[in-house]
Amino acid sequence: IVELNNITKSFGDFRALTNINLNVRQGEILTLLGPSGCGKSTLMRIVAGFEKATSGDVIISGQDVGKAPPEKRPVNMVFQRYALFPHLDVFDNVAFGLRLKGLPKARISEEVTRMLELVQLQDFASRWIGEISGGQAQRVALARALVNKPSVLLLDEPLAALDLKIRHHMLEELKRIHTETGTTFIYVTHDQDEAMILSDRVVLINKGEIEQIGTPDEMYSAPKTLFCAKFFGDTN
Ligand code: ATP
Ligand code: MG
Repeated sequence: IVELNNITKSFGDFRALTNINLNVRQGEILTLLGPSGCGKSTLMRIVAGFEKATSGDVIISGQDVGKAPPEKRPVNMVFQRYALFPHLDVFDNVAFGLRLKGLPKARISEEVTRMLELVQLQDFASRWIGEISGGQAQRVALARALVNKPSVLLLDEPLAALDLKIRHHMLEELKRIHTETGTTFIYVTHDQDEAMILSDRVVLINKGEIEQIGTPDEMYSAPKTLFCAKFFGDTN
């Protein structure tokens, strides 16, 4: 469903990404994993169409993302810092994209209510963003990203700001939401446990290049490079 063809990205004479080739399958959870600075967020911004690759292209559902106008892109992103609107309540944050589209009021109300149920925030619709917890804010961000029914959802370290206990709970929620919606997830983390629990396949990135792609099990039990062996062997 998502095809990355030979993506390269340079900032001045610094090369952040080199020859990234990747096919993301419909409905899977694919995780980009790798140390800080390896290029994960840069790659996500390119997939989302927020940034242009120096060369190569991104095709989503047969459409070149670089050429599609923003409102036509079949992709949505959840940012690490949620980027919610603090002057709006929970309901209006989720409704935002639907209002931009000009949907009728009753329809918006119906869709937003369904989304809030999905992330189990139906009782929080009229709370201000400042009056909810970090985990709840994260779920609002998810609901807002899913309400437009994107075929692909990009999640860039969505749980990084949460403590361990909520993180585990949110991982289970993410899995449930993934199953219920059938949305394709591209997920970024530098936490290998998170990657192991969540992913169908893992892409290990090192200094802007793909080291290995495989199931969590393959990465762990059959590393193909020294970097991969070290990455999965080192921690705990
Ligand atoms: P982290 O895990 O810390 O979030 P990351 O894998 O997401 O790291 P990126 O944010 O993609 O890393 O950055 C990859 C590299 O590109 C880094 O060395 C970063 O400093 C550099 N970089 C990112 N954006 C720019 C920019 N706009 N201009 C110059 N260099 C940049
Ligand atoms: Mg990043």
